[in-house]
Amino acid sequence: MTTDPVLALVRPEILALTPYSSARKESQGGRVWLDANENPQTPHAGAPRLNRYPDPQPPELVARLASLYGVPPAQLLVTRGSDEGIDLLLRAFCRAGRDSIVITPPTYGMYAVAAGIQGAAIKTAPLERDRDFALDVGAVLAAVDASVKLVFLCSPNNPTGQLLSRDSVLNVVRSLAGRAVVVVDEAYGEFTPEPSLAEELPAHANLVVLRTLSKAFGLAGARVGVTLAAPGLIAVLQKILAPYPIPTPVAHAALEALAPQAIAAARRSALELVEGRRQLAAALAKLPFVQKIWPSDANFLLVAVDDSVRLMALCRAAGLVIRDRSKDLPNTVRITIGSPEETAFALEVLARA
Ligand code: PMP
Repeated sequence: MTTDPVLALVRPEILALTPYSSARKESQGGRVWLDANENPQTPHAGAPRLNRYPDPQPPELVARLASLYGVPPAQLLVTRGSDEGIDLLLRAFCRAGRDSIVITPPTYGMYAVAAGIQGAAIKTAPLERDRDFALDVGAVLAAVDASVKLVFLCSPNNPTGQLLSRDSVLNVVRSLAGRAVVVVDEAYGEFTPEPSLAEELPAHANLVVLRTLSKAFGLAGARVGVTLAAPGLIAVLQKILAPYPIPTPVAHAALEALAPQAIAAARRSALELVEGRRQLAAALAKLPFVQKIWPSDANFLLVAVDDSVRLMALCRAAGLVIRDRSKDLPNTVRITIGSPEETAFALEVLARA
């Protein structure tokens, strides 16, 4: 039994689980490593050398990420993309056939998929379309019954693009203290000047923040996500994380991307994309088939069009790949902000519609 109100929401069998103890976790240090059935050599030449299992949570990477997000290292878990953070949370908190999550559609699809894989039920509290997809706090709280363990809020939200109001999110977090964990997904957090909710972690034990290096840091191919939460909760997630989740080349790539100059470059790149977003929105507004462009705090725009099927066919024929979001919102497409050349090409194709 635990007296921590948030850990009390974790699946009891996970709290009781003895996690796998990997060789690299047990034996830090030492000079001659004969404990993990590794090959002493890399038979092929290559850099970096990959014959050794990686540190499960490379300390230097954890330290740099902790400083980037302004939290102590014990409040941070590095995962294979933030998608893995979502999956770990579902597996830690939701018993199949018994527990549930709340999502706020239209929103990022992986929350529902991870719930489906885990056998958790899904309750919905739709964002308010006529208020630029604002969070409906009353609907979220009304959706939370005793079976709900996790509430996923995405800010800025994918696919609609807007930040959720900080007051509304904190209202939900406060109202659910001791009853459910609120997961704020800030995958697109670098494209808005708004500070991260990570600074609220010390005040709220039931708050979890997800970040990623896939967007502003341009490392989608490396798969580096970060879960920020109270140390006790991080320790629970670590229990169910795979033994060696961060491959050595990935840790190297992430460390390079987190050098001071590279962080400055990522910030400049985010600002350029924000300027690109403004330019794309202005150009799209002149196109006759465009019905609405929602304000965006992310690196994409959600656009309502007269006929998304026709538009998608035209784009496909021209080799332009954009995303049809009509499943969530009829006749909408989502367009990522690319390089100036890519945006120019997109506008050239779209002008033919
Ligand atoms: N959250 C949101 C809102 C996303 O849009 C995405 C990627 N599309 C992710 C999380 C997952 O990102 P990754 O696994 O690359 O960190």
